[in-house]
Amino acid sequence: MYCISCGVKLADSEKACPLCGLEVYHPKLQRTVTEGLYPAHQYPPKEVSPWGIRVLVLTVFLLPLLVVLLCDLPAHGQITWSGYVIGALILLYTAIVLPFWFKAPNPVIFVPIDFALVGVYLLYINYAVGGRWFLSFAFPITGFFALVVTAVVTLTRYVRRGRLYIYGGAAVAVGLFIPVMELLMYLTFDRVNFTYWSFYPMGAMVLFGGFLIFLAICRPAREMMERKFFI
Ligand SMILES: [Zn+2]
Repeated sequence: MYCISCGVKLADSEKACPLCGLEVYHPKLQRTVTEGLYPAHQYPPKEVSPWGIRVLVLTVFLLPLLVVLLCDLPAHGQITWSGYVIGALILLYTAIVLPFWFKAPNPVIFVPIDFALVGVYLLYINYAVGGRWFLSFAFPITGFFALVVTAVVTLTRYVRRGRLYIYGGAAVAVGLFIPVMELLMYLTFDRVNFTYWSFYPMGAMVLFGGFLIFLAICRPAREMMERKFFI
């Protein structure tokens, strides 16, 4: 016998569907007392403590951190290669796990924090390997992308309209920055080959960004694109 409303299987003794509550009516049915097919009580699902998960995930990150530290430190008497691993683990944790500690993580806050940590990590590597590329290369590039991504995230979050302007503007800004990156690379590393390779990706990015801005301005073109690509 099945419930005519929801289709759930019913025991012969059932007078009403245990799932949807519809009365079981069948004039010729002889009810025999049998055990119901389903438990009479409903047990609410056990709530998993968010703190339990947080501590568990933190342990998953801390354990390898301790292991590499214990492998590295006694052998060399100081932190050598384990510094890179530990830095990478802290970066991963902050970028991926830490936002889940908050009910509604705000990317406007997390994006700059993540970039700042990337900057600190690069500074550490630069210092650890005795490089001279942080101030003239890593810092300006990380800083530029931190600014652009933070601006995009902030604008898309707090300005309701004009997404196309925001993405188009960001694409143009990144495109124009690529030759600056080549210049910084040239000044920092070899000072021999300035090949102008950066102008090709710059052109592509500026064209792409310009196209997005064109779509933002020109309503008929935008509507045509929407129809064509179902967006
Ligand atoms: Zn039912």
